[in-house]
Amino acid sequence: MEIEGIKINDNDLIFVPLGGSNEIGMNMNLYHFSGKWIIVDLGISFGDDTMPGVDVLVPDPSFIEAQRENLLGIVVTHGHEDHIGAIPYLWERLGCPIFSTPFTASLIRRKLVEKGILERVKLVEINPSSKFEVGPFKLELISLTHSIPEPNGLVVECGEQIIWHTGDWKLDPDPQVGQPGDMEALKSLASRGVTAMVSDSTNAHMAGTTGSEGALLSSLETLFSQYRKKIGVACFASNVARLRSIAMAAKKNDRHVALVGRSLWRMYEVAKENGYLLDVPDFISEKDVGFLPDDKVVIICTGSQGEPRAALSRIADDSHPEISLAGGDVVIFSSREIPGNEKAISRVQNKLLDRGVKIITEQDHHVHVSGHPAHDEVVFMYQTIKPDIAIPVHGEKKHLRANASIAKLCQIPQILMPDNGNVIRLCSGRAEVIADVKADALVVDGKQLIPLASQTIKDRNKLLHNGSIFSSIILGSNGSCDGPPVVTCLGVGAGIQVALDQQVEALMSDEIETLSPAERSLDENVINACTKAIKRFCRRQLGKNPTILIHIIRTDLEE
Ligand SMILES: [Zn+2]
Ligand SMILES: [Zn+2]
Repeated sequence: MEIEGIKINDNDLIFVPLGGSNEIGMNMNLYHFSGKWIIVDLGISFGDDTMPGVDVLVPDPSFIEAQRENLLGIVVTHGHEDHIGAIPYLWERLGCPIFSTPFTASLIRRKLVEKGILERVKLVEINPSSKFEVGPFKLELISLTHSIPEPNGLVVECGEQIIWHTGDWKLDPDPQVGQPGDMEALKSLASRGVTAMVSDSTNAHMAGTTGSEGALLSSLETLFSQYRKKIGVACFASNVARLRSIAMAAKKNDRHVALVGRSLWRMYEVAKENGYLLDVPDFISEKDVGFLPDDKVVIICTGSQGEPRAALSRIADDSHPEISLAGGDVVIFSSREIPGNEKAISRVQNKLLDRGVKIITEQDHHVHVSGHPAHDEVVFMYQTIKPDIAIPVHGEKKHLRANASIAKLCQIPQILMPDNGNVIRLCSGRAEVIADVKADALVVDGKQLIPLASQTIKDRNKLLHNGSIFSSIILGSNGSCDGPPVVTCLGVGAGIQVALDQQVEALMSDEIETLSPAERSLDENVINACTKAIKRFCRRQLGKNPTILIHIIRTDLEE
């Protein structure tokens, strides 16, 4: 098989990360064997302040889309957005079945309903800790622990070779929801000989172990007991175990728990649908909070990352229809600050502080545990699995490096830190990058997907930082200005508008005069000359370089 000029033998075992390597988010990994492909995970990531107007990014699937007749399925490790979020945006371009455990399938199903494509998608539910086959791929899910129910590592067996794709995981002997990781299955996997371990690097740079949800529960119990007024807790809706920990800590302190935010109710519904959270007292609605004394309520809300439209932001603004917090109330941030969100989080925290609300974060008390393995857990996994090759993924460069140095410490014979787009051949215990394919991010821009590296996004950045000037010029006979040009300035200041209104005619006429009549007959020449004139003016007056757009209207076309 030859794809984009790359020769791939049918029996080559190939790994291609198209997202999630050297970045956090947007996980998309491909495996090839026997002429067929599967995708493992299909997630999104979020825009930052270098991407104006961009909320959501998805991986570029064009490499695999070009061979969709050989694409057999999307296997999903767990239900976090960085693993399932891109399914509704990209499924139509891939058109293959999706395999996941029931809890994750419930989340995916809701996304497909929203997109109006549920009837067309074959969504196959696979029980946790089970084996299944997709074409030539013999697959097995091994249950692990993380920060959402039903996280799985995936065993990908291709002929003689076995890959252990960990997905997101940590070691938690007391996860509160679900079982501890299946250590027996890991040992049995190791005994079969693993060619490569493709593993989560997110927290590999952190010392020790990540910590257990069970220990957090007792910490929250103690914390809740110290307060007599309202307690708010901000956390990720998908952290079902955390909802349980908060609910149990509240029960112990004789408090009812309200869920505030649509995504929390949706997650509660999905959890119950799949048999989770059935042992906690029913959550109450935000409307009920007002009927309870302050010391009888805990409010779980969305918005731990400072999202402006989430419940916590609205509570901080005092614009929430049902919930208000005041002096003596407390808000616990039971989450980590995702890099890039610090300012937004501070904004919300400052507003709460202004209202006299006490803020408690990870720095003040044990209120959060991560879902990813720290140093000692990564060591444990390498020592248990003993792969021939370590391939760190799911992290920025520094995270991959930390994972790689642990692999080195554990004497893994070969370590390969991949980049998105690397086509990696895994054979007889050797990994080798044989080519690179396109693996840029695509921006979800309203109803279209556009490349992040496109002129559209570059233009937006330029418009955002320098403003813009539009001008229409009417050219009469001989190509000279027929009346004053019209100028509109956006985002460059009122003074420049006034100055241009007065001077633009002279500026442009002077510049057009430098062109011969033959040169003036081409719009392009006139546009360049006028752009130059305004550019020079702006540099002199403003010391800036706004985007300039010139439209030419000719009145002498009949002649
Ligand atoms: Zn995850
Ligand atoms: Zn993840």
